[in-house]
Amino acid sequence: MALIVQKFGGTSVADVDRIRHVAQRVVDTQKAGNDVVVVVSAMAGETDRLVGLTRSFGAEANPREYDVVVSTGEQQTIGLLAMAIQELGVPARSFTGSQVRIHTDEAHARARIASIDTERIRKELARGWVVVVPGFQGIDSEGDITTLGRGGSDTSAVAVAAALGADVCEILTDVAGVFTSDPNVVPNARKLDRISYEEMLEMASLGAKVLQIRSVKFGKRYGIPIHVRSTFSTDEGTWVVPEDEIMESLVVSGVTYNRNEAKVTMFGVPDRPGVATQVFAPISEAGVVIDMIVQNVSTQGLTDITFTVPRGDLEKALPIVRGVADEIGAAGVTQDSSIAKVSVVGLGMRDHAGVAGQMFRALAEEGINIQMISTSEIKISVVIEEKYTELACRTLHDAFGLGLDELATAEP
Ligand code: ADP
Ligand code: ASP
Ligand code: MG
Repeated sequence: MALIVQKFGGTSVADVDRIRHVAQRVVDTQKAGNDVVVVVSAMAGETDRLVGLTRSFGAEANPREYDVVVSTGEQQTIGLLAMAIQELGVPARSFTGSQVRIHTDEAHARARIASIDTERIRKELARGWVVVVPGFQGIDSEGDITTLGRGGSDTSAVAVAAALGADVCEILTDVAGVFTSDPNVVPNARKLDRISYEEMLEMASLGAKVLQIRSVKFGKRYGIPIHVRSTFSTDEGTWVVPEDEIMESLVVSGVTYNRNEAKVTMFGVPDRPGVATQVFAPISEAGVVIDMIVQNVSTQGLTDITFTVPRGDLEKALPIVRGVADEIGAAGVTQDSSIAKVSVVGLGMRDHAGVAGQMFRALAEEGINIQMISTSEIKISVVIEEKYTELACRTLHDAFGLGLDELATAEP
């Protein structure tokens, strides 16, 4: 008998019919001889609606109450799913994050899971019940409700699987697995049978929202096999596994995009030691995470510094940046929200030169201008004008032969 954690995302539980469909799937899994713990998201659109409601009252200023409100979407679905499973004659029980003690730190709206008490879950499983728990929510040391950040139900699921020592964590969603690029943007994207934790971490951090990045970190740390597959089909999906289980490493295995960043440029910056700290320390103290940074060669003692921040943090970052610019005597600050970051990811890049050149050439042939570049061992990212996002993804997907039978496989 296996212990399976099944996580269903928002579109999978979008209405009562779909909740009934999910219930049937859970029951089938249990009847096949498994113990099943189900983790559910809020119904599609519900978390957005709740976030919108909190904005009327300036949620920024009240993170504790924000979490009280936005966590309720998952409380609806755990109860409804438990009812639907019971309707099929199988005992099921829902528990909130507080009842199963999903402990997190105090960072409201972006809390991190510290531990999960599994006693209650195990007790119910031993009685033959299906256990349904909410994604996205936890409690801090005061017992206050916390949430894990958007897309956080994936992380709840893998954390529950790790705490229980489950055999597999299934992420059931509206696509058939992890694809070479977002199948909703690149029509000929191909489903990957397997992907390494390392590549999946890069893809998730670069915008492939099919898995929240922290869920992949949990999976890697605790060796939990993650199986991303469709809620609406029983076909095998994509297994996220250790690197040594990947037979062939592709030079490029995925193309991702992220439209959630904005670009800030401080120009005419005096080029002297210590300036970078003066610019970036106050921004990070305000809790704004900087992604890419580019500094130009200085001419006549002056340079330009360009960096990207999450788009949602731009309003918070700008007054700080302007203040610093005044302080250090920089000439001015500009901003641009209509950018996108497009990246190629692949383990094979480690031993293959020329990937960057191939990427830049393909974009140039489409007339797409590159504004910023950053690279790491297994990825190359460029910032481009947002309106070219889809074109850039499709172009790179084709340039690296990802949609075709003949793949750009690295030589061993
Ligand atoms: P859920 O509600 O089930 O959590 P999400 O919307 O969070 O689902 O994630 C699934 C979506 O991720 C897909 O509908 C797809 O548009 C998007 N996506 C982006 N990149 C990829 C990729 N490389 N492979 C699969 N899906 C991707
Ligand atoms: N409901 C939350 C969200 O929409 C968590 C999740 O679905 O993963 O972000
Ligand atoms: Mg999701």
